[in-house]
Amino acid sequence: MERIQVQMSMYEKLQILSDAAKYDVACTSSGVSRNGDGTGMGNCRAAGLCHSFAADGRCISLLKILFTNECIFDCKYCINRSSNDVVRTSFSPEEVCTLTMEFYRRNYIEGLFLSSGVLKSPNYTMELIYATLYRLRKVCNFQGYIHVKAIPGADEELIRRVGFLADRMSVNLELPTAEGLRLLAPHKTRKNILAPMRLVQNKMKENKQEIMMYRNAPHFVPAGQSTQMIIGATPESDYQILNVAESLYKKFDLKRVFYSAFVAVNKDKALPARSDEGPPLLREHRLYQADWLLRFYGFEAKELLDEVNPNFNLFLDPKCNWALKHLEQFPVEVNRAEYDLLLRVPGIGVKSALRIVKARRMGILQFEDLKKMGVVLKRALYFLTCNGKMMYKTKIEEDYITRNLLNTKEKLPDSVTGMTYQQLSLFDDKNFTESQVMNLTR
Ligand code: SF4
Repeated sequence: MERIQVQMSMYEKLQILSDAAKYDVACTSSGVSRNGDGTGMGNCRAAGLCHSFAADGRCISLLKILFTNECIFDCKYCINRSSNDVVRTSFSPEEVCTLTMEFYRRNYIEGLFLSSGVLKSPNYTMELIYATLYRLRKVCNFQGYIHVKAIPGADEELIRRVGFLADRMSVNLELPTAEGLRLLAPHKTRKNILAPMRLVQNKMKENKQEIMMYRNAPHFVPAGQSTQMIIGATPESDYQILNVAESLYKKFDLKRVFYSAFVAVNKDKALPARSDEGPPLLREHRLYQADWLLRFYGFEAKELLDEVNPNFNLFLDPKCNWALKHLEQFPVEVNRAEYDLLLRVPGIGVKSALRIVKARRMGILQFEDLKKMGVVLKRALYFLTCNGKMMYKTKIEEDYITRNLLNTKEKLPDSVTGMTYQQLSLFDDKNFTESQVMNLTR
């Protein structure tokens, strides 16, 4: 039975509502340059923000809380669902402001990440969030970073008003497909989620024009919008998930899509059984790597995966995996290759590709030069020539390169010795834990 808390200290609320927020991963604070005007507290200059990440990769640099863990909805995967017997509480707008200001003064945080359960109705909750942000910005004069969740189903006007006070806004897609939503979050619909996303996108475009016309026009969601998908609660493949992400980037101008490995906190027959391996963190990691390739390396989802191979290789990062399937494009001559092709070489990142293009105007590059430019030669050496020569005598052969790439650091555990990478698929070796694989392929 639900315990009704009549009186609770702010510290007790903080314990409950920060713990309840830990499953929301969409919290990196990037891409904004709101300057303080010298009269208030804090600013968001990109260089002035620092982030730290917990061991599992989750961002912990912001005060990350729920406004309330009460919720009228009953999403099957959520610890705060209405049918769960958990202690419920809510902050007041004043309490969130006090915590943010006091933590900022003590240098504990750089900003605020505010999400919420749905209290009474989406509008009621969004009004409370608006009251909180209004007070923080206008009364407390807080000029630091604020990332806030838009509650699907809330009025457009409320979302618009909140958008003028926040730096980033996000609406969680929750599950990659409409079918997944129907199964696990029957109170939510794809339409309900995409509508506020579209609203934020349109308002951001409009706002750019306003800012060009009137220099002092207020900024609407200057750090852009993001979303989050839960991975592994429903049976979608990586290919489906990556296609959804690609389409969100293209159609809604999202700044980031966050992937959150499903954590089994509830028992429900609609959910996957709890696994001894814990949440699929390696799968989440591969999706982040692939997402990076979509956003910065010019890849398309259909180049990385397809219907025949719909999931990422457990042992190889998506770029290495792609290169091994396209050996006809390698080796690439580093002194001549186009920038776009350099970006596709494993071990060459955006910065090192730019450095190569710049430096080779001055003279012919050698492997020693590449190392200084940040190229990871232990991966790149199989795919590059410098002035027509490879770094070592090597075969351009999928199996040979794969074995060499996998043996660079650690020996494969006995459970997979003798197996080729082709015999393995995602999570098919129960004795080989995800952390072992992460270490091996890092
Ligand atoms: S609406 Fe949000 S807080 Fe409420 S049950 Fe669903 S996921 Fe949890």
